[in-house]
Amino acid sequence: MSKRKITVIVPVYNEQAGIQEFHSSLVAVLDQVAIEAEIIYIDDGSIDESAARIQKIARTDKRVHPLYLSKNFGKEIATTAGIHASNGDAALILDADGQHPVELIPEFIRNWKEGYKVVIGVRRTNKNEGFIKKHGSTAFYKILRILGAPDVKPGSTDYRLIDREVIDAFKKLTEHNRVTRSLIDWLGFTRIYIEFDAKARKHGEASYSTRKLVKLAMNGFISLSFAPLYFSGYLGVFITIMSFFAASLTVINKYILHDPLSLNITGTATLAMFILFLVGILMVGQGLLALYIARIYTETQNRPLYIMRRDAKN
Ligand code: UDP
Ligand code: MG
Repeated sequence: MSKRKITVIVPVYNEQAGIQEFHSSLVAVLDQVAIEAEIIYIDDGSIDESAARIQKIARTDKRVHPLYLSKNFGKEIATTAGIHASNGDAALILDADGQHPVELIPEFIRNWKEGYKVVIGVRRTNKNEGFIKKHGSTAFYKILRILGAPDVKPGSTDYRLIDREVIDAFKKLTEHNRVTRSLIDWLGFTRIYIEFDAKARKHGEASYSTRKLVKLAMNGFISLSFAPLYFSGYLGVFITIMSFFAASLTVINKYILHDPLSLNITGTATLAMFILFLVGILMVGQGLLALYIARIYTETQNRPLYIMRRDAKN
């Protein structure tokens, strides 16, 4: 068989408490499948001892190939760095926090050996999930579909295996605003889905709520520099909504209630509301344009995706 070696890609950010345990459970499974493996830990600029721990693991395990990013670039870029560095005939991407069960790895590999180029882990819907999270994610996939995004199975995660062919295609993608799994979805190739129950995070932050907040805050910072661009859009939404209500009230007041308070709103005022409404819509359109211009701006900056450090030391 030509399919010999698998690269396991693990982005790591502040996982000092669990990384050793994760590594042990990972190699236990890899030993079972009896496949040649290379394990890439990408330290995504952790501010705890993660980098040092990874270095220590690498010293005792020849299969481990550590990468250290110079600062926190975010999971998507860290994963990308791992994919770029992988030498295997396939790459398996999974989280370091124990939420992606390593017990499934043999199944991923089996499907790959059967010929699938992309094997995707899908989270079973968690019945204990809150109303907002559950329906929010359903709405998210619906909107994706409406927007014409590639068909994505709801619950698809980053836990996935990609064949060398997909890795090579992935390397050709150059955008900076990237979501790794969406890019893999976009690439196509034969795919199969494997269902799993997401476990609770073993160590560190109970990720979801806090991380979402961190992401939100980060997005806030990023958009700060584009605030003037976005401002007209927000103002437009405000003006549209306000003038819509004002106009509706005027119409109801005059033609349905026959002006019980004797407000005597003039035709000119009504016309002004109508004009404001249209201006609001124009400004919303400008805001939408601004979103695209902001993207073009970041893409034309064309910075390297990541900067590497030589070793674990800061
Ligand atoms: N991660 C990373 N960079 C970051 C944030 C997270 O490399 O800036 C890693 C993290 O160590 C873990 C994986 O990405 O291995 C998923 O992170 P997390 O559990 O916080 O996210 P969630 O479970 O909410 O998707
Ligand atoms: Mg997690």
